[in-house]
Amino acid sequence: MRKRLSFEAFREGVLGGDRVVLSQAITLVESVLDADQELSARLVQEILPFSGQSIRIGITGVPGVGKSTFIEAFGSWLLDQGKKVAVLAVDPSSQLTKGSILGDKTRMEKLSSDKRAFIRPSPSGSTLGGVSGKTRESILLCEAAGFDVILVETVGVGQSETAVKNMVDFFLLLMLSGAGDELQGIKKGIMEMADLLVINKADGENLDAAKKAKVNYQNALHLFPETENNWYPQVLLASSLTGFGLDQVWKNLEEYEQKMKASGFWDRNRSGQRLTWLDDQVYYLLAQVFLKHPEVKQKLEAEKPKVKSGELNPRILAQQLLDLFLSKS
Ligand code: GDP
Repeated sequence: MRKRLSFEAFREGVLGGDRVVLSQAITLVESVLDADQELSARLVQEILPFSGQSIRIGITGVPGVGKSTFIEAFGSWLLDQGKKVAVLAVDPSSQLTKGSILGDKTRMEKLSSDKRAFIRPSPSGSTLGGVSGKTRESILLCEAAGFDVILVETVGVGQSETAVKNMVDFFLLLMLSGAGDELQGIKKGIMEMADLLVINKADGENLDAAKKAKVNYQNALHLFPETENNWYPQVLLASSLTGFGLDQVWKNLEEYEQKMKASGFWDRNRSGQRLTWLDDQVYYLLAQVFLKHPEVKQKLEAEKPKVKSGELNPRILAQQLLDLFLSKS
C-alpha cells in the first residue's frame, strides 16, 4: 500500500514549492477514497490564503492545431521571462481514448525537464463534474507552490471548454489557417468564449494563408456581441516551431490583466467562478449520494429499459427515484 504523507508534510511541501509533494497532493485531490477526500479538502482549505496570485490561462483548439507544441514553446518562453509555469489538462474524453492528452510527455520535453515548470496530465476515468472540481483544486495547489502562470489545456470540442472557461482568467483559442471554422470543428460558442484567437503554424509556406485567416477571423469577431468586460478579442499569428508571435501573445495577456484588474472585472470574475464551483460541488455530491443509494440504483437499472423504449416519461421515473431515496434515508 502506498504510504501517505502527513497533513503537515503535504502542507509544508506544497508551500515550499516541492514538485514531488505537489504532484502527490494533486493525486490526493484526484482520489475518490473517502479518507483522501477528507484530507485533500482540508489541505486545499489550508492553502487557500496562499493561492490566487497567478494568471490562469485556458488553452483550447482541435486536435492537431498544435496545443502541446504551443504550450511547450510558450511555456519555455515564459520560463525565459522568469516565470514559473504549471500545465494542467481537462480531458473528460480520456475515458474513451484511454489516455490523457498530456500523457505523452515527450511532446513537452523541454518543459517537463525544467525545475521551474510543472506538468500534470489530466485525471482520467471520471465525469466532467468530478474532473473540473479537481482541476480547480489543482490550480490552487500549483499557485500555493509558487507557480505564477497556470496553463489549462483542453480539447476544443465541447463541454470541457465551458468548464475551463469557468476556472480561468483568460481563454485562448488556437486556430489553423486554411480551414473554415466549421472544418476545424470549432463551434461558434467556443469562439465567443475566447479572449484571444491565435493562428498557430504561421511559418514557412503557411504564413500567407495565416495572414489571410487573421483578417477573416477579425471580421468574424466584429460580428460577435459586446462582452460584459468590454474586451475586444484580438487575432494574433504565432508559430510554435519558430517562436514567432509568442511575445505578442504575452503582451496581450498582460494588457488584459491590467485592464481587467483596473475595471474590477478580474476579481468579480473570480468570485463568480467560486460560486459556480460551489454549485458544481453541490450537484456533484448530491448526484454521488443519490446514485450510490442501493435501492435507487436497483430501481434505476430495472426501469431504464422502459425509458429507453419510450414507454416511460423520464420525469416520472426521476420523481419516483427521488421519493424512494427520501423515504429510505
Ligand atoms: P495538439 O493535438 O493540438 O496537441 O497538436 P500537436 O502539438 O501535437 O501538433 C500537431 C502537429 O502540428 C505536430 O506534428 C507539430 O509538430 C505540428 N505543429 C505544431 N505547431 C506548429 C507550428 O507552429 N508550425 C508548424 N509548421 N507545425 C506545427
